[in-house]
Order: sequence, then C-alpha cells, then structure tokens
Amino acid sequence: MCGRRRRETWRVGVSQGSAAAETNVREALAYGCKILALEGQGDIIWGHVTLRTPENPEKLYMKPAAMGLEEISASDLITVDLDGKKVDGERPRHSEVFIHTEIMRARPEVDCVVHTHPPHAVAFGSTNRPLLPVGHEGSLFAGGLPVFSETTDLIVTRELGEALAGTLGGSNAVLLQNHGLVAAGGSIAEAVMTAVVLERACRVQMLADAMGGARAWTDPEEALAKKKRIYHKQALEQAFEYYARRVRALEARGL
Ligand SMILES: [Zn+2]
Repeated sequence: MCGRRRRETWRVGVSQGSAAAETNVREALAYGCKILALEGQGDIIWGHVTLRTPENPEKLYMKPAAMGLEEISASDLITVDLDGKKVDGERPRHSEVFIHTEIMRARPEVDCVVHTHPPHAVAFGSTNRPLLPVGHEGSLFAGGLPVFSETTDLIVTRELGEALAGTLGGSNAVLLQNHGLVAAGGSIAEAVMTAVVLERACRVQMLADAMGGARAWTDPEEALAKKKRIYHKQALEQAFEYYARRVRALEARGL
C-alpha cells in the first residue's frame, strides 16, 4: 500500500556515518517536538508527532505519552505499526495513535503527522468561522481548512481516526473543534512548520477580531500564489532549521 521511495530526511548536523538515516529521522522527530514546544504548542504532557521509519513506511516513530514535547530525545521514541500497536520502545503510547495511523494509511505521501492543542487554534476552531488570509500565514491554508466536529473527545478508535482522515482529505491541516489541530506533511519540516504557521494564522485573525474583525484580506487567487511563493518546501525546511538552531542555542545555555 505505501510505496517505498527515497525518504527526505531533514538533517540536523548529526553524524552521517553508519545508521545515519535512522539516527537522522529519530533526531529530526525529537527536534520537531522541541520546536512545537518552543512555539507554545506544548500542552503539559499532551500532543504528539509521528514520522515514518526509514526502513518500513508502515511503521512510525512516535513521541511517547507521559512526557512533554520539550523533553523528548531520540532515545525516548517508541515505534508503532499501522494498526496502532507498539512494536518497539519502553515508554507508553498515546491513546490517540489512530490520528496518525489512519492519516498515514490514507495518505501514502504523508511521512509526518503532528497533533497538538495550541490555544489560538483551539479558540479559533470553536468559532465556526472560516480561516482568512489576514496575514501571510493564512495563505498556507488557501483552498480551505477543514474542521472536524464529529466529537470533541479524544480520537481513540480506528473508526474515529478514519473519520478524521476523511475530513482532512488531501489538505495539509485540519482543526479539531474544541480540541486542537492536526497537520500532515511529506517531511518533518513540512508538518511541523504547517502546525506552527496554522497556530500563528489563528492568532493573527483573533487579533483582528479583537479590533472589530478584519475588513481586508488576501483574495483567494493571490493567497494561492503566496502559498507557493512563501511556504514552498525549501522555505519550510529553512524555517525548521532556523528553529532547530534556536533549540540548540537554548540547550547550549542549559535552558
Ligand atoms: Zn488531542
């Protein structure tokens, strides 16, 4: 089902020796978690990220449960299969694994899925208003941002995961009403930066709403053009690298 293809791993300056691919992927996922935390997307111990393993696209590295996003190291990750079963790792699995497995099952081109509960996305998602390209950020979601409203509860069954994947469709992100966001991408950089930009887009629109609501925003055609011009693949990778440098700088200072 999921065709084998050359994996584009985001490199973080780790050793490129033997087993480099696996090391890179695990390290990249740990950085992704820390970047989300740095951007205020940590929710105590909740929120999770998965990335397909280099050796088997039907297995996923996953952030474990019971830890904060900012605490994650490559050695903490667990591995799950597409049925959501933990096949490797000591730490516990998040009950919402089905968000990841069902999106990965439905979207072979997706290598990374992010699920977080950032405050602006949660608040904005409760308003039933469409996301507008008030600033640049909203243009990444030009063409529509679906909202999943079947439940506000956790996605703890394969059926709910399938329903969520159905609402996501071919989009890069979906808001879970009164719950959070899900972002999907072909790389760790794409999915993590999509989550980061979505939270920022919700925040910008809420700022405009606080001043009586936006009276002008980018038209749909220009928004699509901006999506390609600003948030192309290379730019998302560069943005991820920028955040990774910030994480490393904080860690070097013991923060
Ligand atoms: Zn959740």
